[in-house]
Amino acid sequence: MATAGKVIKCRAAVAWEPSKPLVMEEIEVAPPQAHEIRIKIVATGVCHTDLYHLFEGKHKDGFPCVLGHEGAGIVESVGSEVTKFNPGDKVIPLFISQCGQCRFCKSPKTNLCEKGWASDRYDVMSESDTRFTCKGKKVLQFMGTSTFSEYTVVNEIAVAKIHPSAPLDKVCLLGCGVATGYGAALNTAKVEPGSTCAVFGLGAVGLAAVMGCKNAGAKRIIAIDINPTKYEKAKVFGATEFVNPKDHNKPISQVLYEMTNGGVDFSLECVGSVAVMRSALESCVKGWGVSVLVGWTDMDDFAARPIQLIAGRTWKGSLFGGFKSKDGVPKLVNEYLEKKLKLDEFVTHNMTLAQVNDAIQLMKTGDCIRSVLSVALQ
Ligand code: NAD
Ligand code: ZN
Repeated sequence: MATAGKVIKCRAAVAWEPSKPLVMEEIEVAPPQAHEIRIKIVATGVCHTDLYHLFEGKHKDGFPCVLGHEGAGIVESVGSEVTKFNPGDKVIPLFISQCGQCRFCKSPKTNLCEKGWASDRYDVMSESDTRFTCKGKKVLQFMGTSTFSEYTVVNEIAVAKIHPSAPLDKVCLLGCGVATGYGAALNTAKVEPGSTCAVFGLGAVGLAAVMGCKNAGAKRIIAIDINPTKYEKAKVFGATEFVNPKDHNKPISQVLYEMTNGGVDFSLECVGSVAVMRSALESCVKGWGVSVLVGWTDMDDFAARPIQLIAGRTWKGSLFGGFKSKDGVPKLVNEYLEKKLKLDEFVTHNMTLAQVNDAIQLMKTGDCIRSVLSVALQ
């Protein structure tokens, strides 16, 4: 590789400050250091968590940064000590690492890892150490990944090598949204055959949760969104009923209680609102109902009546669908290649990185499921 060992100048969409459009800039990407991999990003999805950081979380120490954490690409070069990756490998950068050594990685109970940006920077949502500069300034790597850039550098503990025939403009969705929702149903809620489920929020994360409920054998899957244009898609992934909370003048939990004779067995919150999280919990049946938080928010506390839990409901959270990232993602890619998992159906728009602000706008207005941006040419 002619570029190996050298600084690469390339195009990236830089978020200079919160709430402002991203700006296409030329950035410098340093060569990978020991245990690091420099990746040419071929395609990236836009996820609501990118919008969360830009418009909602707005943490002052999290800017300037390059957003994007749902990408796929090709290894350009590797740093010293990297033995399991080679230039040309197809890869997915991971916002949750898997070092394999820490007490979390060694436990089958969790997919958290003590290494990587996430260990205690959920508020800032960025890696403090970055390989990017622009106009003489350090630019942070959002969620340790930064896929809105033609090149990025990621530690090998946060890179999954995937099947060489995987189409990168589809499997990029396994870098976040689809893995997250699908795993939340299968791994975290542990949806059971014959059960009744409710999924709140029908973006890519919620639709993937619907797909997970269906693949787990749920009998009824009630899809809930305030945007009724999402129901057709939800049907494609297996939803059996649809409810718009705005169509009712009573709480959605009451509506679901009546529809299900006492509440659902499993509910998944895929919106990122503490009010919806409470509704999702209260929609569960007493005795054994399980409610899973998937939507991302860290700004407000939530409240619930203790009796909800005392009466036997369980409230859980799910990060990246509970998948151990390096192990899980290549398997999900293979499931897609074997047609056991849908991905194409999530993609409503194909655009280029230069159109990233249009893609962000489409998500803000609820007019897309996933926009996939082509980044660097393969
Ligand atoms: P999205 O914006 O595409 O979808 C959100 C959906 O929620 C929209 O269809 C919207 O109409 C609907 N909605 C809004 N308010 C609602 C309400 N009151 N009741 C019902 N539906 C409502 O977002 P996405 O990319 O699918 O992401 C969904 C959430 O998951 C976000 O909060 C995102 O940050 C989070 N997320 C979490 C993880 C994780 O690891 N836990 C990973 C990825 C994304
Ligand atoms: Zn995401």
